[in-house]
Amino acid sequence: MLKKCLLLTLLLLSLAAEVLAGGLQIIDKPIVWSEQREQLIREYAQTHYGLNKVDITPQAVVVHWTAAGTWESTYKFFYKEDRGDGTLNVASHFLVDRDGKVFRLTPETALNRHIIGYNWCAIGIENVGGIGGAEDLTKAQLEANIALIEYLQKKYPDIRYVFGHYQQDAARASGLYVEKVAGYYSIKIDPGPKFMRALHKRLQESGLIFFAE
Ligand SMILES: [Zn+2]
Repeated sequence: MLKKCLLLTLLLLSLAAEVLAGGLQIIDKPIVWSEQREQLIREYAQTHYGLNKVDITPQAVVVHWTAAGTWESTYKFFYKEDRGDGTLNVASHFLVDRDGKVFRLTPETALNRHIIGYNWCAIGIENVGGIGGAEDLTKAQLEANIALIEYLQKKYPDIRYVFGHYQQDAARASGLYVEKVAGYYSIKIDPGPKFMRALHKRLQESGLIFFAE
């Protein structure tokens, strides 16, 4: 009987470890990871940040939308190592489907190309939606982003900032922006102020720093 109880306790403990704070479940769905990707990451880090590295110490979380209809199409888009011009392909660490399902695409501390100026220190979360600039991210995605950001903050205590891709200029106040290539910039609108305001409101007690519009 005692043995049975012990086994049951161990089973419950192992199950609990799978479900994180806020009921968050992370599904591993890795994009291809290879020597070629590591080489391209290293080249990107050298060119844009003057750094020789493939991984990051996360200090910020950047929220995006995909402007694509399905998680599968974004997954496919991120999958390959090369963007087609001999440089590192774009990718984010996490991809959140419209029903709130969270996919982990790369190691959490990989240096991924998702936001100019901050890739050396930022974890990226992509959310499926935003086609044509529509601010249509769902309630389930909001809940998933909150749980995911709380999980990341707990795991990486250096994380102090959360901002949307469109807030890339405002976020320079963090002092984290670095870009060695002059004029390398593109205007962004994702994931829209409505979603960022909702995130900020729900994470007000977190101690994380957000930016105004
Ligand atoms: Zn973006």
